[in-house]
Amino acid sequence: MTGDRDVLVIYDERMLQHRPEAEEPFLPGRMNSRVRGILDGLGLGVEAKWSYPEHPGRVTAVHDLLLAEPIPGVRLVPGEKATLEQLQRVHTTSYIESLHELEGQQAWLDIDTTAISAGSIEAAQVAAGSVIAAVDAVFEDKSDSAFVICRPPGHHANAVRARGFCLFNNIAVGAAHAQAHWDAERVLIVDWDAHHGNGTQDIFAADPSVMFFDTHRAAPFYPGTGQLDEVGEGLGEGTTVNVPLPGDAGDRAMIMAFERILVPAVEWFKPDLILVSAGMDAHITELCMAMTYDGYSALTGILQRLADKHCKGRLVMALEGGYNPDTLAKCTRATLDVMAGGEPVEPREPGMAEVAEIADFHNSAFADSE
Ligand SMILES: [Zn+2]
Repeated sequence: MTGDRDVLVIYDERMLQHRPEAEEPFLPGRMNSRVRGILDGLGLGVEAKWSYPEHPGRVTAVHDLLLAEPIPGVRLVPGEKATLEQLQRVHTTSYIESLHELEGQQAWLDIDTTAISAGSIEAAQVAAGSVIAAVDAVFEDKSDSAFVICRPPGHHANAVRARGFCLFNNIAVGAAHAQAHWDAERVLIVDWDAHHGNGTQDIFAADPSVMFFDTHRAAPFYPGTGQLDEVGEGLGEGTTVNVPLPGDAGDRAMIMAFERILVPAVEWFKPDLILVSAGMDAHITELCMAMTYDGYSALTGILQRLADKHCKGRLVMALEGGYNPDTLAKCTRATLDVMAGGEPVEPREPGMAEVAEIADFHNSAFADSE
């Protein structure tokens, strides 16, 4: 039952200091006017004001819900900053230096990603460092599993480039740390965010010791990668597993993908650690895919079962996307409840229980008329 397992949840206010704004001039001139054109009108001929969706209110909503409705077994602790050496395991030195040069400035790093003020780079260091702290916690047996409420997210960032609101690839930094520091031979990264984790895929494409399994809404949905035939490269061929899905795919499709594709892949790969890029934007309210809270509960049940069987329960999740603060918080809570030992919920067809109740109400009237 809930509370049977310890879950370390990392939440650190330094990650709130990343406060991107959409009003900054873009880099450089020609790109500037093109992107402005797209964002201002969205091609609809309407003046639409674009605000930056990846804002601090996302993670404060999660934190607030965990304080208002605490989960037995869940312990909240602050995070840690990643060191240069830890970041260099997956990012080039020149990329890390170029970010540091922007400290104190507000600037667009890429077509869809802003860095702003001194706080942004530190927030990104804390996001990546907190995933490392979470990995340390499960290897040191300080907790059964761990969840990092991190931002900026990470899975679109590759070795040399910020993209999709991501600066450092947090989950990749965590995987590299598990291998370098804890001698984990094989690490599985599951990415259930609605968007393809293109940065993570790039970083480990040729690495057979890291398996990358990604369910996402298929191209041309952002970022446009994650096709079925992207299976890894060179020595890493076969350890990249993409599951591109239609936008109306919901709980049952996701569970089937996990049971029919992930489970046999994990039986074959036998990881020492399971990491999860736990974006919550496949929830139906985000208009990307059609999952419900019960779906997150069920998927977590599958992952915990795999972690228990193959890697002494070692399961570490890090937040990625999720832009509706209310549903993001509830998806996270549903996930944490199962990590803490709660029974996974069996998803049902939405509305069925309500129709059954309403049918009882109306049917009594019809029974009288017979
Ligand atoms: Zn996403």
